[in-house]
Amino acid sequence: MGNDLEKVLISEDDLQARIKELAGRIDDDYAGKDILLVGVLKGAVMVMADLARALHVPVQMDWMAVSSYGAGTRSSGVVRVLKDLDTDILDRHVLIVEDIIDSGLTLHWLLENLKSRNPASLEICTALRKPDAVKVPIDVKYVGFDIPSEFVIGYGLDYAERYRNLPFIGTLAPHVYR
Ligand code: 5GP
Repeated sequence: MGNDLEKVLISEDDLQARIKELAGRIDDDYAGKDILLVGVLKGAVMVMADLARALHVPVQMDWMAVSSYGAGTRSSGVVRVLKDLDTDILDRHVLIVEDIIDSGLTLHWLLENLKSRNPASLEICTALRKPDAVKVPIDVKYVGFDIPSEFVIGYGLDYAERYRNLPFIGTLAPHVYR
């Protein structure tokens, strides 16, 4: 990616180690239960794949695609459903898997939407959380890393659909988006 990358914020090793720790907690918390992991496309693809492989409890995976960001780095505040779940979540233990929580707008909307379908339980696991998200009154049970309010890429997160495949979390050099 040439000099588009400003710095590595979280290394691949640190990401992998933290996901394994979270998986261990989730295994304990859901012992004896089946989990339906609901990944939020496209950003959650990497964390979903790593988390699912690290879990020992039985899991199913389903995906929702919602959009709250355009090609830039600002939230539009508008959530659109691009793809709904294939699974009926009534009486299921649902764990939402997110890449990042920033304003929390997407998550707030998603929680209300999924709650109305009456799951047995509904919790959230996110790889990353930014400071603004802490202001939102949402209980996020599993958080990988709290990061500064910077625009990050990699590990599923894109800038204009690029960089999702980086195995680490990095920040973009300002010249890329200014
Ligand atoms: P929120 O609704 O919490 O503000 O934002 C949620 C969505 O915005 C995330 O799922 C992600 O797609 C996008 N987003 C928020 N912050 C960042 C960021 O720093 N980098 C990238 N690439 N996407 C972000």
